[in-house]
Amino acid sequence: MNEFQLIKRFFQQPNLAFSNAYLRQGIGDDCATFNIPSEYDLHLSLDTLVEGVHFPHYANPFDIATRALAVSISDLAAMAATPIGFTLAITLPQKDEAWLKQFSDGLAPAAQFYPCPLIGGDTTKGPSLVISLQVHGITKAGEGLKRSGAQVGDKVYVSHHLGDGAGALPLVLKEPALNTGLAKQFYNPIAQIEFAQTIKSYATSCLDISDGLIQDLNHICTASDVGMKLEPTRIPMSELLIETYGQEEALQYALSGGDDYQLAYTAQHCEYGIYIGDVIEGQSVNIVGMKMINGGFQHF
Ligand code: ADP
Ligand code: MG
Repeated sequence: MNEFQLIKRFFQQPNLAFSNAYLRQGIGDDCATFNIPSEYDLHLSLDTLVEGVHFPHYANPFDIATRALAVSISDLAAMAATPIGFTLAITLPQKDEAWLKQFSDGLAPAAQFYPCPLIGGDTTKGPSLVISLQVHGITKAGEGLKRSGAQVGDKVYVSHHLGDGAGALPLVLKEPALNTGLAKQFYNPIAQIEFAQTIKSYATSCLDISDGLIQDLNHICTASDVGMKLEPTRIPMSELLIETYGQEEALQYALSGGDDYQLAYTAQHCEYGIYIGDVIEGQSVNIVGMKMINGGFQHF
């Protein structure tokens, strides 16, 4: 199988490289082409995942694909953008057809779920497995949510419970092919595209939580020139996380662990999501009754 046959077989499949109203040209020419009406903004985000760094060696290719697309599309959710297509650059140590089959089998249902078709890419051979995805999304002009815009007096919200992704990581590192219980949360995060649509008219600022709630909320504080006061008892956590680690450790994962891909946002008032604290004057996030010790938040 030559390179073009390989692209056709694994990537140019109708359930993965499908079309939509904005795509003029997908896989098969020198460029992919969008036709975007002038009343829209185009939002782009690029993510690279390196084997052994962003996912474990020997992880299941199906799961790698699902996760790679979800974490990339999560950045579009953070802007309240609607996905319209993604490109994929893949570097592989060898032309492993079984691997490519499982990878594209994982990618196709994820692409249909959002929906976000594969529109082009690059396939190369290299010393280790590296996957880069560029996602493209649209909003009405000027309506993309940003990290700046939070105002003193706003409330702070998150879209769903936190900590499962980080809590799953030690389990996945021990057993890379594990994809049940908490481990499922690591490989199957769901980008909050739909949720973003429900909160976009309320939110004054927004981002997706990839590196941990506190660290990411500090980005909103910096961009918006505000501080935040969070109430630890309000931080939502799953029963599974609390059962697995106990309340104290679960809270550490929820506050400082990454990999959740939920949204955190501010609004004067929002009836959707979970209220966890307030925007105050200041420069960074404070947690009532806790302080930072050894990289994690501890009770005084
Ligand atoms: P060029 O030589 O012009 O850069 P390529 O030979 O790299 O083109 O790719 C041929 C076509 O296949 C292009 O439309 C490209 O976007 C697409 N393509 C290549 N690799 C991938 C991939 N991994 N996923 C999706 N499309 C791909
Ligand atoms: Mg070319």
